[in-house]
Amino acid sequence: MANFIPLSVPNFSGKEKEYVNDAVVSEWVSTGGSKVGDFEKAIADYVHMDRAVACNCGSSGLHLAMLISGVGMGDEVIVPTLTFIAAVNPVRYANAEPVFIGCDDSLCMDPAAAERFCKEECHMEDGKLINNTSGRHVKALLVVHVFGNMADMVEFTRIARDYNLILIEDATEALGTYYTSGPFAGKFAGTIGDVGVYSFNGNKLITTGSGGMVVSNHPDWAEHAKHLSTQAKADELQFLHDEVGYNYRLTNLQAALGLAQIEQVEGFIAHKHEMWQMYKDALDGKNGYRILPFRDDCTRSNKWFFSLYLEDPRHQRDAIIQALKEQKIQTRPVWALIHEQADYGKNQVFSVEKAQDYRAKIVNLPCSTNLTREDCQRVIDALLAL
Ligand SMILES: *Cc1c(COP(=O)(O)O)cnc(C)c1O
Repeated sequence: MANFIPLSVPNFSGKEKEYVNDAVVSEWVSTGGSKVGDFEKAIADYVHMDRAVACNCGSSGLHLAMLISGVGMGDEVIVPTLTFIAAVNPVRYANAEPVFIGCDDSLCMDPAAAERFCKEECHMEDGKLINNTSGRHVKALLVVHVFGNMADMVEFTRIARDYNLILIEDATEALGTYYTSGPFAGKFAGTIGDVGVYSFNGNKLITTGSGGMVVSNHPDWAEHAKHLSTQAKADELQFLHDEVGYNYRLTNLQAALGLAQIEQVEGFIAHKHEMWQMYKDALDGKNGYRILPFRDDCTRSNKWFFSLYLEDPRHQRDAIIQALKEQKIQTRPVWALIHEQADYGKNQVFSVEKAQDYRAKIVNLPCSTNLTREDCQRVIDALLAL
């Protein structure tokens, strides 16, 4: 009987057990302990930043990003509608409101649509972008590097400058993606805007079980994130707190796992590239399928998640997912658009037609870093038979 092929699972083939055992033996299992700082340094070095601030998940990292950016009550943030909802909820945690924008063919937010929104739906007043409809201050632009594909940061940095917006990068899916050419050559996703956030959830490129990391091009903002993540303690001994803080710090146990994982990150990416190429060679342009590309012309992408696009209308997304499930192959549709969910139905929406098309026609394929060539071939054969 054929084995089950999961969509995306962790890969613990390095020193995970050794480092976690060290943490247990040392009895430093909570937010104290040297491994948290070591992991921060390892991530900072990897993405070429001076400092990174560890937190207990990407969602809390994004909440901290809002707070250190000064996004607050009554502000608005431009966000993509085609992404995981955890990217957008922190806007509400900060008592601000999202404005939803559609995607381009990278699956990331369409910069042309974001700019049209700024130009046609807003005006500048005392150096602030004001939304004509709501009268609120549009303070920030939150870009998500969807499935590890770099959003068009050349355009987004220009738009942020032109309209005086803080640029926040949700790089939770894009650890290891960097520009290879252009003005940002050598720059990693997450390190180009004002603030960037990574996630180490179980399905991400590397995992700490749950975890995240905040980086910023403003050293004092990074310091502020650390302060807020540790209950805003101003004095250790006297328990003096100078702000409303949070218990958002990563634990030493999680950091131990992360240290073992980051040692393997380039191997994981190489494996993703190999499997993606195998799917592309076998399926792109065949049987009514396309394998969506990454921005390979100007970036080295981590190729975190693979997207099969159902070009031929005879293919029905949910029927394909079901047929594969019956063969013990796990796949999934891309996320339901956020502006149609939770209570975001009342928020402003701009230019989402392409996002609706991708939502209807994408199936994400198995992409674990321990996926074998045999399993990849089984997925390909099953798809070609449909
Ligand atoms: C995973 C993810 C998050 C949240 O990260 P957690 O660590 O699960 O909280 C946020 N945004 C996007 C786009 C993600 O994929």
